[in-house]
Order: sequence, then C-alpha cells, then structure tokens
Amino acid sequence: MWETEESSPLQEGNVLDIIDDSSIRLYNEIVRVHCLICGETFIGPKDQAGLFIFGHKKFHLWTIDIDDMGGV
Ligand SMILES: [Zn+2]
Repeated sequence: MWETEESSPLQEGNVLDIIDDSSIRLYNEIVRVHCLICGETFIGPKDQAGLFIFGHKKFHLWTIDIDDMGGV
C-alpha cells in the first residue's frame, strides 16, 4: 500500500490541483468508487469517477442487451 514518504497523491480524500495541456482544475477531491456489477475500483477525481461509473453502467447494460437479443 501507499505508506511511504513518496506516497501517491491519488489517495482517497486528498485534494489536488490538476494541470494538463488545456486546463487547470483546482481543489479536485480524490474519491474511490467501485462498480456494483463487476467490482472494479477507481480512485481519482470526481469527474473521472463519474465517467468510470457511467462507462461501466453503459457497458454492463450493453452486455445485458446482447443477452436479451440472444434469447429472442
Ligand atoms: Zn463494471
């Protein structure tokens, strides 16, 4: 785990300023979320956590759709 001095800033509860090529985002709280269907876990800023959840929801619904089509 992250217990050393050089621990990752990506830890639940940390608040980071995130700078990339096109933007600066201040006070991003790092959150931990997991998918209720497959259990995959994501740790990162909330907007990306939202994309993670949204992406999994879409993906799992898609696999259910495929199953339904197979059952017709
Ligand atoms: Zn999932």
